[in-house]
Amino acid sequence: MNYKSTILAAATALVFGTVSFQAFAAPVTTEGTGVGKHGDVTVAVTFDNGKIQDIKVLKEKENPVLAQKVYKDLRSDIIASNSTDLDDISGATFSSKGLKQAVEDAAKNAGIKLSKGDKKAIKKVEKALPKVNNYDVVVVGAGGAGFSAAITAKNAGANVVLLEKMPAVGGNSLISGAEMNVAKNWVQPKLGINDDSPELHAQDTFKGGDKKGDMKVINVMTHNALDAAKWCKDYIGVNFEPDNLFFFGGHSRKRALIPEGHTGTEFISKFMHKAEELGIPVITNMKMVDLIKNAEGRVVGVKAEMNGQEYTFNAKGGVVLATGGFGANAQMVKKYNPKIDERFKTTDAPGSTGEALYMAEKAGAQLVNMGYIQTYPICDPISGVIELIADARFDGALMLNQDAKRFVEELDRRDVLSHAILKQPGGYCWVLWNDNIGKISNTVKTHTNEYEAFTKQGIMKTCEDLKCIADFTKMPYDQLVKTIDRVNTMTGKGNDKDFNHRSGLMDMSQGKYYVIKAVPSTHHTMGGIRINEKAQALTADGKVIPGLWAAGEVTGVTHGTNRLGGNAYTDIIVFGRIAGQAAAQAAK
Ligand code: ADP
Repeated sequence: MNYKSTILAAATALVFGTVSFQAFAAPVTTEGTGVGKHGDVTVAVTFDNGKIQDIKVLKEKENPVLAQKVYKDLRSDIIASNSTDLDDISGATFSSKGLKQAVEDAAKNAGIKLSKGDKKAIKKVEKALPKVNNYDVVVVGAGGAGFSAAITAKNAGANVVLLEKMPAVGGNSLISGAEMNVAKNWVQPKLGINDDSPELHAQDTFKGGDKKGDMKVINVMTHNALDAAKWCKDYIGVNFEPDNLFFFGGHSRKRALIPEGHTGTEFISKFMHKAEELGIPVITNMKMVDLIKNAEGRVVGVKAEMNGQEYTFNAKGGVVLATGGFGANAQMVKKYNPKIDERFKTTDAPGSTGEALYMAEKAGAQLVNMGYIQTYPICDPISGVIELIADARFDGALMLNQDAKRFVEELDRRDVLSHAILKQPGGYCWVLWNDNIGKISNTVKTHTNEYEAFTKQGIMKTCEDLKCIADFTKMPYDQLVKTIDRVNTMTGKGNDKDFNHRSGLMDMSQGKYYVIKAVPSTHHTMGGIRINEKAQALTADGKVIPGLWAAGEVTGVTHGTNRLGGNAYTDIIVFGRIAGQAAAQAAK
């Protein structure tokens, strides 16, 4: 209770004597805290007569694009209904829960019991949108590919609309690390790299995908990468780290540009800004449910749904599908790759459910390489997201099972590690490291938000000694000591007699120790719509489907069996632009 309200409440009680304090209590403001996806969400809630009057968000670290609706719509719904008994914002579940928890905590601190919730009190503002809409180009899916296509189409003179089924834009592009491979980029010379080329990048990509990619399409990607990156930097306004590049596995040169903040938020927020500046309508909560073809077999629009209502978006030039992959659709993943069953969570955005692939197939497109699905081994058992903090693995962290035993070489391929983890008791593992390892990349410091959130979730612990680690993880203490003692006798390159750790085990005799529970998640679906070098969708016999373009993770010919790190962003920007340009041209 703040100072002023205390005085007011006391005065009220004096004047009205016997009248109950509750009925005439003055407004009180209390603080409360909840746990979001990236740490604490702290709010100040003002109550008047037991009813929420205002919620101020004081501290939070959520993704600004995804959490926008949580702090706007969910916040006002909580106020309107005086309750936290409300649905989470789809696509921002953890942030929603964080806000609701924080409000509940504040209510508890004020001694107020929140009501069950009057959903009728929530006024949904629905935009009056015509049932039939006519555009030159309809782009479906507002991730990196969709924004690139829509902005390019608009600049080529087309009247364009961008449809997104989720409440927030961004898809996987938003939550990705968003590094972008570009041979001959402007940072390479600063690092003394002068012998890279689009040809080399293409070869790396082809080899990395076990030669299952389409070399013609790959070449288009690598040869247009520099132009695409310059467009992002100079026209869209994306800031890249000026002196630093990322070196992903499978690449023969260090060539990945790093966006400011190391996530796709930098791209997506700049894309949103540009789309707004150009007046491109971006309609969220609008889900494509079918493609429309005319009598000649040309794709001429889409059918879409919002809140159970059907809408038609006619497209004079054509439709660009930029709907992403299907990693968040466990059934579909299992259908195309039975080895990746329901035990896998996903790192993906919740909109990556792949139904658009079936719509494209129905319209005649061939789906290829659908069984090639990339998994990521070290992810949060609760949300499925990648545990970047456990990247200490690259510096020597161990992977232990519940019996406190190592079971795999910690630097083996992602798919090998994923399957090895699933074979362990409970289908999870513990990643364990100490300060000796941690000081190398300092992941705990780089990812403080994760550290706080995982510790609070109860899946991570920092300990002075192994006894505390054993108590927390319930691993048998004697075996844990035995395992660590053995590791300590095999440190250095070439000395790991058990699993042949390729860069050498590290000494783990001293604390502090850090441990985190991890499970594998699906990460990227390499398969999808067959396209040609012009991003046109193709039938099984290689014929172009007129009026239908596809770009990004929804396509299936670039990455073969395995997408190399940093190639997703190159793919989505290059082919998004090509598709947008071509569809705009077709409208003329
Ligand atoms: P990419 O990396 O290829 O751009 P993303 O995953 O970033 O792919 O973006 C794809 C977007 O498409 C996501 O925001 C997803 O919610 C959206 N999407 C998927 N299916 C549909 C659909 N049927 N209708 C509208 N939007 C869709």
